[in-house]
Amino acid sequence: MPPLEVHLKTSIDRTGKDYKEIHQWIDDPEKKYERHDVTKILEFGRMFEEKYGKEGAEEYIRHIHDDLNKRFHKLENVDRKMLDDTLAYFGVK
Ligand SMILES: [Zn+2]
Repeated sequence: MPPLEVHLKTSIDRTGKDYKEIHQWIDDPEKKYERHDVTKILEFGRMFEEKYGKEGAEEYIRHIHDDLNKRFHKLENVDRKMLDDTLAYFGVK
């Protein structure tokens, strides 16, 4: 999983803001499994949209996207072509 600084830089590059509060909330060590749960994307996305607008919700989704990408690419002994296809299938490239 990319460290916080990587998430902050990605947000700055994309939006001009670091959205630190969002990234820290997602990566809370005590709650990170619940907060990276893709079945909660609608619920948490709405929460961030209410607080930070559409851009904040998008940065939350981008965080999940980037973590998925990083995690899957750490896997060893997998068929790379199948892995890339699976990630592309879910919009993670
Ligand atoms: Zn994360």
